[in-house]
Amino acid sequence: MQLSWYPFDLQLKHTFTISNYSRSYTPLVLIQISHQGLTGYGEASLPPYLGESQESVQVFFERVDLSSFREIDIPAIHAYLETLSPHHTAAKAAVDMALHDLLGKTMDQPCYRLLGSDPAAMPATTLTIGIDEPEVLFRKVQEAGDFRFLKVKLGSKDDRRIIETIRLVSDKPIYVDANQGWKEWSHALEMICWLQEQGVVLIEQPMPKELPELTARLRQQSPLPIFADESCQRLGDIDALKGVFDGINIKLMKCSGMYEARQMIARARALDMGVMIGCMNESSCAIMAAAALAPQADHCDLDGPWLVNNNPFEAPLLEDGKIMLSDRPGLGVIRL
Ligand code: MG
Repeated sequence: MQLSWYPFDLQLKHTFTISNYSRSYTPLVLIQISHQGLTGYGEASLPPYLGESQESVQVFFERVDLSSFREIDIPAIHAYLETLSPHHTAAKAAVDMALHDLLGKTMDQPCYRLLGSDPAAMPATTLTIGIDEPEVLFRKVQEAGDFRFLKVKLGSKDDRRIIETIRLVSDKPIYVDANQGWKEWSHALEMICWLQEQGVVLIEQPMPKELPELTARLRQQSPLPIFADESCQRLGDIDALKGVFDGINIKLMKCSGMYEARQMIARARALDMGVMIGCMNESSCAIMAAAALAPQADHCDLDGPWLVNNNPFEAPLLEDGKIMLSDRPGLGVIRL
């Protein structure tokens, strides 16, 4: 089994702004794993705030030697990757999805079927609208024509103005992601009550991850479900979030890939918690990997390919606001 990789800058259609910074592209490292004449594709997405870079990921890949693995043994390869580093979750996710792609191709089956996902259960995906000036917000909302849900990034002093501006041109249900931006409990509750009146249906990470007790208190009073994003990275984080959040946002880049994401879904369900499948700025490769699991989630936030100009893979199809799973073997992605 042979691993190769190269860096790729994913250009964003709109400069992306959340509560504390903005950027115009997202660095990726794209990988291929070849095995018995087949090629599996994978992707590491590296938004700078996560602390990984194209350099750090390539240094990690230089240490990865898959030549001794004769079979596509995903648990064994994950165990090996963990011995190399407890971190580098995006790099591990790239290897994980390339292995799933290979496994599907070897078995001539789409990954969603190998993972037990029912395409009929696919939730409609949101389209994210970053913080911006009114004219740009209007344009973004227009571009969301095919999507049934909007996701809006809040957490600044302009929160009410942003929602009111969007409501001038759209009455679609909105998911709000505060990205830890509300520091005061009373302000967070006041905002959530107001947002409910504006047709918001779900709140993601309202308060800093360092404040689980205040978040739990907020959840008790909140009229809307509250989901963890920054508070929930990996499988081991979930148990402590019971009672603090109503659900978790699982992202492959945070949790090291589809293998652990499946375990996280199972753990969340065992704790009677909701599940959202989310993404970073990603190409179709990582999005189709997440989409293979999305029918097992309650909410889908997989808008990556619609926010970029230079997707290196064929764009996924959207039908009735839902990502169409491909019946091609593996992840079903085609390199352009
Ligand atoms: Mg988030």
